[in-house]
Amino acid sequence: MDRRRMDRFKYALSWVLWPLLFVICMLISGYGFAVGLPVIYFNISYLFMIIMLWRLEIWMPHERAWHNPDGQNIASILHTLSSKGTIQALMIFSGVIGLAEYITPMALEGHGLWPRDWPLWAQVALGVIVAEFPLYWGHRLAHEMSFLWRFHAIHHSVKKLWFLNTGRFHFVDSLKSIVPGLLLLVALGAPMEVVQWLSVITAFIGMLTHCNVEMRFGWLSYIFNTPGLHRWHHSKDLREGNRNYGENIMLWDIIFGSYYDADYRPPADIGIKEAMPPRFVHQLLWPFVGTKIRQRILPDYEPVAFMREE
Ligand SMILES: [Zn+2]
Ligand SMILES: [Zn+2]
Repeated sequence: MDRRRMDRFKYALSWVLWPLLFVICMLISGYGFAVGLPVIYFNISYLFMIIMLWRLEIWMPHERAWHNPDGQNIASILHTLSSKGTIQALMIFSGVIGLAEYITPMALEGHGLWPRDWPLWAQVALGVIVAEFPLYWGHRLAHEMSFLWRFHAIHHSVKKLWFLNTGRFHFVDSLKSIVPGLLLLVALGAPMEVVQWLSVITAFIGMLTHCNVEMRFGWLSYIFNTPGLHRWHHSKDLREGNRNYGENIMLWDIIFGSYYDADYRPPADIGIKEAMPPRFVHQLLWPFVGTKIRQRILPDYEPVAFMREE
């Protein structure tokens, strides 16, 4: 294929990649639910998503500059394993089932407000909307309250976006984000299958959101949290960065006035203004320690005043 035809092919692909990858992974996972092997098929689809994004990021990147190594790969992987990986595996496939019976008898069939007679797809859609409310406020408060920002800053400290950053959260930040939404669903009496589907959807949308692949979204960005929207969220400029808090969908951003999209290109120079140590162990400790210990870890560390808005 000559270069012009290849460019046209990539352009066409950029319009369909986001929905295509999402739907393929949902179908593989759905097959897993249908044959009673949800964990295995979820892992297959997750691996498929990783391999596709890894190759696509090289072949048709959004920011070529984000290919440069930032020395954070191991730290990001360790944060992923220590937070989302363990929490999600625990929550999805074992913990909540046992936990649910302790929390409230509403989780049992015939109790609670949940419309269990709706078709499963409608229950999952409702689950996404309901769980997104605490997810939205948990994320927004993590940007607006200095105590919570200390933990969330680790996610935002990266200077480039790519699929590997998806699960880079301090484990306290992850707990604070994920648990309230799950508890709300369980308290309302949502069946386990809805909670599992929500976890699957969150995993795929999260991975897509951080990818460095050139994609176009059109009207999808009014419904879902797309990479285009999330690149604003990682901006250093808080007029762009303190926006788009949605995890999966943009409904609550639109309702609470934090939705942001613009027709200029989001900044390639992303990150945070304060310092962050490069090593995983220090990053884990960072939110818990004051200026003196921080200066022992990073000798030229200077505290930066916490600013809610600019
Ligand atoms: Zn954030
Ligand atoms: Zn992010």
